[in-house]
Amino acid sequence: MIRINENYLKLQSSYLFVEIANRVSAYQKENPDAGIIRLGIGDVTLPLPPACIQGFQEGVREMASDATFRGYGPEHGYDFLREKIAINDYQSRGADISPDEIFVSDGSKCDTANIQELFAKDIRLAIPDPVYPVYLDTNVMAGRTGDFNDGRYDKILYLESLPENGFVPRLPEKPVDLIYLCFPNNPTGATISRDTLKTWVDFARENKALILFDAAYESYIRDQALPRSIFEIQGAREVAIEFRSFSKTAGFTGTRCACTVVPKTCMAYDGSGQKHSLHTLWNRRQSTKFNGVSYPVQKAAEAAYTEEGKAQIIGLTDYYLKNAALIRKEMAELGFEIVGGENSPYIWVNCKSDAWEYFDFLLKKAGVVTTPGPGFGKCGNGFIRISAFNSYENVEKAMARIRDAL
Ligand SMILES: *Cc1c(COP(=O)(O)O)cnc(C)c1O
Repeated sequence: MIRINENYLKLQSSYLFVEIANRVSAYQKENPDAGIIRLGIGDVTLPLPPACIQGFQEGVREMASDATFRGYGPEHGYDFLREKIAINDYQSRGADISPDEIFVSDGSKCDTANIQELFAKDIRLAIPDPVYPVYLDTNVMAGRTGDFNDGRYDKILYLESLPENGFVPRLPEKPVDLIYLCFPNNPTGATISRDTLKTWVDFARENKALILFDAAYESYIRDQALPRSIFEIQGAREVAIEFRSFSKTAGFTGTRCACTVVPKTCMAYDGSGQKHSLHTLWNRRQSTKFNGVSYPVQKAAEAAYTEEGKAQIIGLTDYYLKNAALIRKEMAELGFEIVGGENSPYIWVNCKSDAWEYFDFLLKKAGVVTTPGPGFGKCGNGFIRISAFNSYENVEKAMARIRDAL
């Protein structure tokens, strides 16, 4: 008899986006002429930067001729891309990361999902709430979380982000082994200061713990005082792994390219307390289970680091940040407490009422789609996430409609 991994039965149905889609289509059926504006999605809307298109096309051209054709590439990515990432994203900011510590991949979703394979089943986990659901669900699948009771898994330590702590979780009061952090945050848009991030690095060092730092939105940081990488923090090389993605940075959500940075000095322990290199383990995992990102896509990603590419990416992210600034301004004027939207494409709005009811209100009275906070965890109760990924014209229209509805 073929049996299933029963941990899958403990997963909470990811009904969030299905439920949103159902409510939107029910509304559209009843109001066929109402133009819906979607500020709910976490997907970019602008096309790839021209520099990346050019790199992409060059890569495709090379694949078309005998002399330049390439078959399987290195699983960890081509050196030409790893070098550009190391120099531009790390060394230029004083973070001591070398090209061979960078693992190019087809997405941060898969990397943040797969990394937990390297760790024992009975480690103590600290996971944010609200959260990008991948961190939690992949640990449920692996059997690390225990049962689900009253909105929480028994064995998880939840790192709560609430107005009381400025949406930056406090350090755990007891030791944990694996800590997930994401800044600028999805869904709240909150950022973390250098000093606070240092307290997490120190905590990890004291507890022989590991921080998994998701920096998918680092290119939205405009405040120069904020860290763009955990490796800008002293001591992080021994206790952190970082995830980066071209998805939200350069519009690669449909093109697929990301990277995971595992310093060679980053260690974890076996049952007898012996140290092991996580760089070695991740390399072993990737070379067994992954066959690299396509050559043209890596050429497209490389082009993001040309002078034109860099300027175009600032243009892209500035565009969404201008949307975010408008959303912030309008929602604040309407009297809402908000966080995010300054160094992030997301604005987290305290709607001071049931999030799903507020979602329905905005849908039915303004024709605007948002994301209800409870979809990201218990601490999302009473909040909605508004995304800046849309055209400026649509954001203007959506804000005018919300103003009218109120
Ligand atoms: C969008 C996003 C990513 C990026 O995922 P890709 O698989 O690289 O597209 C990673 N983490 C968070 C929190 C995100 O919102």
